[in-house]
Amino acid sequence: MSVEYFSTRSKSPAISASKAILKGLSDDGGLFVPSSIPAFEKSFEEMSKMSYKELAYEVMKLYLSDFTEDELKNCIERAYDEKFDTEVIAPLVSADGAYYLELFHGATIAFKDMALSILPHLLTTAAKKNDIKDKIVILTATSGDTGKAALSGFADVPGTGIIVFYPKNGVSAIQEKQMVTQKGNNVHVVGITGNFDDAQTGVKKMFNDKELAAELQEKGYRFSSANSINIGRLVPQIVYYVYAYVTLLKEQKIKSGEKINIVVPTGNFGNILAAFYAKNMGLPVKKLICASNENKVLFDFFTTGEYDRNREFKLTSSPSMDILISSNLERLIYFIAGNDSDKNKALMDELSSTGKYTITDSMKEMLEPFVGGFATEAETAKEIHDLFDSTGYVIDTHTAVASRVYRQYRHDTGDDAVTVIASTASPYKFTGSVMRAIDTCYAGQSDMDLIQKLSKLSGTEIPNAIKELKDAPVLHDIVCDKDEMKETVKRLLEA
Ligand SMILES: *Cc1c(COP(=O)(O)O)cnc(C)c1O
Repeated sequence: MSVEYFSTRSKSPAISASKAILKGLSDDGGLFVPSSIPAFEKSFEEMSKMSYKELAYEVMKLYLSDFTEDELKNCIERAYDEKFDTEVIAPLVSADGAYYLELFHGATIAFKDMALSILPHLLTTAAKKNDIKDKIVILTATSGDTGKAALSGFADVPGTGIIVFYPKNGVSAIQEKQMVTQKGNNVHVVGITGNFDDAQTGVKKMFNDKELAAELQEKGYRFSSANSINIGRLVPQIVYYVYAYVTLLKEQKIKSGEKINIVVPTGNFGNILAAFYAKNMGLPVKKLICASNENKVLFDFFTTGEYDRNREFKLTSSPSMDILISSNLERLIYFIAGNDSDKNKALMDELSSTGKYTITDSMKEMLEPFVGGFATEAETAKEIHDLFDSTGYVIDTHTAVASRVYRQYRHDTGDDAVTVIASTASPYKFTGSVMRAIDTCYAGQSDMDLIQKLSKLSGTEIPNAIKELKDAPVLHDIVCDKDEMKETVKRLLEA
């Protein structure tokens, strides 16, 4: 059966997968959702014999109906290659009664690589299919992690270019170094004098600037976005949940048909939504546990049915989850509203005018598979400490939020179903916080020193992404005012 894509905010006609990937966001401001969630075509036993790449094809072909077999296999081949430091791509590690699904073995050692290494290939393939000859220019504002993963994914991909804007004084030293040392003939990195919101606002303005679009069109360019709401990022994320399940099956950790729990450290709600889609495709999942840090909008939503962003924004040690508007939640709202775009739009309009909305009781009933939980900063640090103490396994701060929430859930409910925890970043990406959680004696030490110590302590090799950083030359040094972003883009594309 062929899957097409609808907007969550209007009853406009469905479009093909390739067009949805090219557009990113619907013209009415809605997100694209599949016309129906497809079911698996093969049994889990059959899928357990597949490599990661074979399974990626088996799952993604169900969503990307208008891609030919050759086209999709080609994208997969180019994405999941030696950029990953393990052929398994997403290893499953057992520690203290749970399985940690390590999604950080790609180029930038965080889970964004799982989707951003394939998105450039899906985009260029989609452009070819739709007879678009323009060079696709990705514009992204980043608060740190997404920027590097996008740069790395798009670097030297023919037919594309990428310009990343980051707040000059608003990212960590390691994050800045990661970006300004990025190689590739089609990449640009620009620091702006302003904060992340300024960068984000500037990029949004450029996307809506019709004059700029026309001017660039003449030169053969068109803008696109690598934002996490693109279905080209969502679909590749479904794969690793299926992979985790069939790996457990193959290793006889579960019986055929046995239900598992999945725990996801959540920010924009993209990663856990992929798990929800996997469940609706027929993956035997009991509970989807949504773990938040102190920015616990989602925990409150799952417990009360009210989404309320009107609250203090907190900076935590798990910065990629410091989010008050989880964009991808809109796809779940649309789903529990019975695929009713009017109902969804009314709630989203309320969110933008008042900062909150409340779902109906019947919608709330449909949230039954979800459990919300959150961990404080102290609990997160203690989790890293305790897990290392009892097993020697070291996890990063984001994963620790999920791990702690799971421990609490299990304690409260007695639910001892086999559980997979999405491990979203390498501990080497947040070395300082991780080492200080393990032992306060590391306070005040430089990240570079601590990297060596983390390697010794955990018995793991320092990832290339970190090793390379030390001696990598700075290749990008442009800084502009937040009001000069448009001029800067024009100048960079002139060259
Ligand atoms: C982006 C990110 C998350 C949050 O994922 P969402 O899909 O936005 O919910 C969690 N952990 C890390 C390390 C991330 O980079």
